[in-house]
Amino acid sequence: MKRLLLLAGTAEARQIAAALRDRFEVIASLAGATSRPSDLGVPTRTGGFGGAEGLRRHVETEGTDLLIDATHPFAAQMKANAAAQAIPRLHVIRPPWSAAPDEAWTVVPDLEAAARALPADARAFLALGGRHLDAFRGHPAAMVVRSIDAPTGDDFTFVRGAPGSVAEETALLRGRRISHLVCRNSGGTAGRAKLDAARALGLTAIVVGRPAPPPGEIVETAEAAVRWALARAGD
Ligand code: NAP
Repeated sequence: MKRLLLLAGTAEARQIAAALRDRFEVIASLAGATSRPSDLGVPTRTGGFGGAEGLRRHVETEGTDLLIDATHPFAAQMKANAAAQAIPRLHVIRPPWSAAPDEAWTVVPDLEAAARALPADARAFLALGGRHLDAFRGHPAAMVVRSIDAPTGDDFTFVRGAPGSVAEETALLRGRRISHLVCRNSGGTAGRAKLDAARALGLTAIVVGRPAPPPGEIVETAEAAVRWALARAGD
């Protein structure tokens, strides 16, 4: 059986692990960002490899045959490290969201620009997770952060939790009297609800655009990644 390294941290990675675990020796890899990650159903290692060179050593030592990068669309460093590997590899990057005509999005290139676009008197909902907040530290706006693990420091009001339905997101944004939503253009179905809620409430959304894609083959879905791997199962 071929050995497949799956760079995980997304719903797509879970789907790929489940679909390929009987056809490959799948080893999943997590960054270790969350304290209680959900089980991927395959042997899973945790923590950085030590850059592109560390990943190369891992691939060599473990005898990895194939590499699927199914990390989050904004995990640009991990994608670049994966793209530097010489074994057959694939990136799974789900399509970004696009704004409907009645959606008031301010599109910015990065988190620093998002912080600059946020007015001082705003009440912001930062849907960024707890580890991507540095650009907002010291910002005069009132800022609510939702994540699994509490952010450090006292710049933010913390709400523990995960994305909900449009009704739940609307209730949260209304209840917290939010004026601006700040999020990345992550794509996918689960995370869209907060933008739909912001639209329903007529709020401004400050949306961070995607980083440049890595070089090499890219597919948009877990299903396409599974097909790519299965086509190489018997080589
Ligand atoms: P990043 O900036 O590209 O990654 C920073 C470093 O973390 C990488 O250089 C690598 O360290 C390590 N790393 C990242 N993903 C890894 C993985 N799957 N296995 C082992 N090491 C990994 O990415 P990030 O934005 O910090 O995200 C970290 C992880 O969280 C990603 O795996 C991503 O899928 C997941 N995630 C991120 C987001 C998000 O919003 N960015 C959302 C959901 C899930 P070395 O260079 O030392 O190997």
